[in-house]
Amino acid sequence: MSVRVRFAPSPTGALHIGGVRTALYNYLFARQQGGTFILRIEDTDQARYVPGAEQYIIETLKWVGLLPDEGVGFGGDKGPYRQSDRKEIYHKYAHELVQRGHAYYAFDTPEALDVRRQSEDNFTYNHLTRNGLSNSLTLPASEVESRLQAGGPFVVRLKVEPGRQIHINDLIRGDVIFQSSELDDKVLLKADGMPTYHLANIVDDHLMEITHVIRGEEWLPSTAHHVLLYEGFGWSDTMPRFSHLPLILKPVGNGKLSKRDGAKFGIPVFPLEWTGGTAEENFSGFRDTGFMPEAVINFLALLGWHPGGEQEIFTLEELVQAFSVDHISKGGARFDYEKAKWFNQKYIQAADNAVLASYIGPLAKNKGYEATEEYLQQVAGLMKERVTFLPDFVETGYYLFEPVREYDRETFQKKWTPAIAVFFNELIGLVATFDTFNALALEEAVKHFIQEKGFKPGDVLPLLRLALAGTMKGPAVFDMAAALGREETARRLRALTQLQ
Ligand code: GLU
Repeated sequence: MSVRVRFAPSPTGALHIGGVRTALYNYLFARQQGGTFILRIEDTDQARYVPGAEQYIIETLKWVGLLPDEGVGFGGDKGPYRQSDRKEIYHKYAHELVQRGHAYYAFDTPEALDVRRQSEDNFTYNHLTRNGLSNSLTLPASEVESRLQAGGPFVVRLKVEPGRQIHINDLIRGDVIFQSSELDDKVLLKADGMPTYHLANIVDDHLMEITHVIRGEEWLPSTAHHVLLYEGFGWSDTMPRFSHLPLILKPVGNGKLSKRDGAKFGIPVFPLEWTGGTAEENFSGFRDTGFMPEAVINFLALLGWHPGGEQEIFTLEELVQAFSVDHISKGGARFDYEKAKWFNQKYIQAADNAVLASYIGPLAKNKGYEATEEYLQQVAGLMKERVTFLPDFVETGYYLFEPVREYDRETFQKKWTPAIAVFFNELIGLVATFDTFNALALEEAVKHFIQEKGFKPGDVLPLLRLALAGTMKGPAVFDMAAALGREETARRLRALTQLQ
């Protein structure tokens, strides 16, 4: 049977970076097995539905290059892939499960249940309490019938039989055992006619012929109920294999990475920028921070999965080859943002100048800089060893687009002498009339001139660098000069002589 996996996010807000990792692992597994990767939108909880979240999910998958084979916005013949478009299907199955004796109708009002919750500690609707409550197990059949005829309100609950062990053979965690006596009779169909996550998820996984469920650890406890649902429907034979991914932990301290950690640590914890209703609900993302999507993928791949060797840099294709579920760790994976930055640097350094130019172009434009494609590629080449984030090309490297705003005065004071001032003016003459304005020729000519006039390179080159970039950091002096061109180089050398 061919592998079919799904990424099944709920559109309740910005997709957490952990969700992107879940999508990635599903994608890698599908690709490696020659299988199918599906995007299913789980939007049955109307109270938590957030407009724009579905588009955010799709845009994220496109940005990181994890394109589903089937799903909302991607076609496929097992749809619809948005759960709110599948309401009737869940109804049918909820009633069927009642018929099969594994679920029942419950008529208790929310108020009546609240009273119980207030008077009893840890009240749960389960095998111990259900016989004293208002449901199709306790009410006469005729009464049940007339209540259903009247259209409710009612919910459908899973009938969990006590006294058995439920085994989940998790591909990452091995045999995980739950006691059915400790489980509640989960609501499957709500009074508003919508299914809960549990029902919709299992019905869909079955109908969409999902073979492997790869999802976050937080869903492990629900899996016990899911196994009972598969049994109840008579679908145990085709139940998917489960893999529960480790938690992503905070950069420091205990506990799992939360959306609030972004603001707390000044780091992105979402893939893309998200504008919520309030300032507190606005989040920055990896994309707008200036990460290359390939770097994010590489970083996330190693957040919980270890390839076994020393290699750290993997293309998506290499990840597909190397990925294996049994190399996913059980323990939480620390969200090491410094490592994410390191990956980004590596990917920027290795990227083609043309690719980098395609990122730098819009950033430059935003700043009002005009630059040709050729120039953008030169900037890419000059700066790529010196940046961490894409916007650094136009921020750290602003002097490649506009005059120097600020000079390293300390170095200037140290190096600027009356003798040098005289020499510098002669040098400007040379530069301003220099014919073959390329880095090599210019370097040779300038160095020769320095020597001829009895100076050392160390007396002059730092000043040249200051003139062009204002800082002692930055690209090689003559490469910069060549990129800036003769006029601009001469203009900047002159500007330096005006500094006091
Ligand atoms: N809708 C669930 C979520 O938001 C899906 C969990 C699962 O993959 O079963 O993560």
